[in-house]
Amino acid sequence: MVNVCPNCGEYRTDKVIDPDGPFAVCPVCGFRQPFLRLPLLLVSGASGAGKTAVHAALSGKIRQAVLLDSDILWRPEYDKPGDGYRDFFETWLRLCVNISQSGRPVVLFGAGAGVPDNLEICVERRYLGPLYYLSLVCSDEELERRLRARPAWRKSDQPGFLGDQLAFNRWFKQNAATLTPPVDILDTTGQPLETTAAQVAGWIKLKIRQYGNK
Ligand SMILES: [Zn+2]
Repeated sequence: MVNVCPNCGEYRTDKVIDPDGPFAVCPVCGFRQPFLRLPLLLVSGASGAGKTAVHAALSGKIRQAVLLDSDILWRPEYDKPGDGYRDFFETWLRLCVNISQSGRPVVLFGAGAGVPDNLEICVERRYLGPLYYLSLVCSDEELERRLRARPAWRKSDQPGFLGDQLAFNRWFKQNAATLTPPVDILDTTGQPLETTAAQVAGWIKLKIRQYGNK
C-alpha cells in the first residue's frame, strides 16, 4: 500500500476508505485503489509479562500470520511519550498495512502497541480492518521476580523501571475490559512458557478464523 497515488502522483496518507471495495480513494484526484484491508493483532503486556518469550516460541510456527516484535524498529528518536509515541506507531501501522498486502495479517508483539489509544488515532489505522488486542499479565510478585532475574545490563531491577512495569501490569488488569476496543487478558502467573505460547497461538488462530467467517 503505497501512499503515492498511482494516478496523480500526490503523496497522501489520508486517503478516503470506501469499504465496498475496499478502495483507498485519493483525496486529490479521486483515483480508487483496491487494497487488502486485513485485521491487525496486538500482543502486549508489561516488561516481564512474557511477550518476547512467547514471540520467540511461536516464531516460524504459525503460517497464517506474520509475527513481529515492535522493538526491532525502536530508536531513541521515537521515545516521545507526550504524544503516545505517535511517530513510532504510524511507522509500524504503515509497515503492517504493507505486509498484509501479501495476504497474511500481522501479529505485532510490543508493550505500547497494546494500548488502543496509541493506535486507534493513527492516520494509517484506516487501511486496516479490526485491531484485536491481547495483553499478557501476571501477579505483581511474579512480574517482580522475573524482572529481578534478568541480566544486570538490562537494569530491570531499578526501582523506577520496576515500579512502572508493575503499574502497567496492574493497569491492564484493571482497565482491559473497558478500553475501546476491549483488550483480552491472559494471566500467565505460574504457567510454563509452553502453555502460554499455546494459548497465544490459539488466540491468534481464533481471531483470524473469526475474521474470515465474517
Ligand atoms: Zn490521486
